[in-house]
Amino acid sequence: MDKTNRVVDTVVIGGGPAGYAAAIYAARASLKTVVIEQGMPGGQIATTDIVENYPAIPTITGAELGMKLQEHATEAGAKSVYGVVEAIERLDDGSFNVVCADEAYQAPAVIVATGARPRTAGFTGEDQFRGRGISYCATCDGMFYRGKNVFVIGGGNAACEEGLYLARIANSVTMVVRRNEFRAPKGVVDRLLAHERVT
Ligand SMILES: Cc1cc2nc3c(=O)[nH]c(=O)nc-3n(C[C@H](O)[C@H](O)[C@H](O)COP(=O)(O)OP(=O)(O)OC[C@H]3O[C@@H](n4cnc5c(N)ncnc54)[C@H](O)[C@@H]3O)c2cc1C
Repeated sequence: MDKTNRVVDTVVIGGGPAGYAAAIYAARASLKTVVIEQGMPGGQIATTDIVENYPAIPTITGAELGMKLQEHATEAGAKSVYGVVEAIERLDDGSFNVVCADEAYQAPAVIVATGARPRTAGFTGEDQFRGRGISYCATCDGMFYRGKNVFVIGGGNAACEEGLYLARIANSVTMVVRRNEFRAPKGVVDRLLAHERVT
């Protein structure tokens, strides 16, 4: 990209589903758009094996869906670049300077779509089996565990809600709690432990 190409109408930071959706809309509105992504196109979705809940696409690998999101944005006219955004500065004319290690992009509008990252537990094998048996989202991945025996690690509200959700799908749900009590509200815990498939 030469210098003139680095002055655009919209900079999207993050090439996950949200970032590419934003880029498709911006580019289709004839805005010169650049998407800056520091890793794989698709963001978190690219780290999962199979996606089965994307409307109109019954089954697709996460990596392929990520590539398709990028392709769609490219076809719409957005440009994808690799970069880690390190700073956003306000310029005198009111526009923004989005600074990466080697490049900077200037635009009157910046869309921050940097997503989220699950807090990992740090045990052996967690990275290796992420998306292949280890999940961070029951509503996303629960169907892969239909009829199976599932462990849920954690005793907070999220863990208990996920456990309850999984109890409808899995053969059994075993809650693994660090302390001898749950941090989740009592009502949620009572409902969870009353479930016949939860231990
Ligand atoms: C293992 C796993 C399986 C999942 N399975 C499903 C599923 O089957 N179905 C479903 O609906 N959802 C699923 N999800 C959830 C889904 O992936 C997320 O809801 C979705 O990816 C969120 O999209 P997003 O664009 O908001 O953010 P993200 O996907 O988090 O994308 C944000 C992007 O921003 C980039 N970024 C962050 N900071 C910077 C920076 N400074 N500079 C440049 N780039 C930056 C990141 O690299 C990332 O690519 C799953 C998630 C995981 C982890």
